[in-house]
Amino acid sequence: MPAIDLEVPYQEKELAKALGARWDARRKVWYVINLDDLTPFAKWLPQPARLNHRADSYVLLESRRDCWKCERPTRVFGFAIPSGHEQLEKSQPDLESPGDDDYDACLEGLDAMHWVAQDAPAVLSYVIHICDAALSRMHSLTMRYRKDLSGVTGTRYFMNHCEHCDAKLGDFETIEEFDAPLRPIGTESTSRLVRYPMNEPLEAESSSVPLTAGNLDCE
Ligand SMILES: [Zn+2]
Repeated sequence: MPAIDLEVPYQEKELAKALGARWDARRKVWYVINLDDLTPFAKWLPQPARLNHRADSYVLLESRRDCWKCERPTRVFGFAIPSGHEQLEKSQPDLESPGDDDYDACLEGLDAMHWVAQDAPAVLSYVIHICDAALSRMHSLTMRYRKDLSGVTGTRYFMNHCEHCDAKLGDFETIEEFDAPLRPIGTESTSRLVRYPMNEPLEAESSSVPLTAGNLDCE
């Protein structure tokens, strides 16, 4: 049996260890190998991806930020998807004037999920799963974009790492906060953005933040 990575929360690491899981210090992940019975590890086994973003094309983004650890400027990368991309959303039943007949259908519909086309482009953040083709495109630009454990969210997601000291560069400062390198607001920070358009589809399980159309314009 090949090695299988486990998604073990920090609080459960002693339990995983006692059951026989091993620690890969380089990748910072617990794993099991050569076990016939995976039952004790069931709750930590990787789950199938729950895709919630899809697009017919995408743009690899490159920008720069200062590393919080070694304080040197380093490149950071991300995935942007154009307007018209789709996100999986819970349906919003029409509660304006529900008739009696509509009530049951309305309740059933609350948990139904639908792909909804989005007006604005977006940049993916906290990426848990990304299709292999898009990840290999990313890895042709950088190998510093890889899954790692976030001390902030307590989860593992694809994040950038410093080109000099390999420190984790989390998505809050890279993507989410105001005028972040990969979601620039001002003209100066926007001008630092390098765009690599990819005319092929993308699927991901992630969060996302809207971009302005100007962020994604490729000259
Ligand atoms: Zn650094």
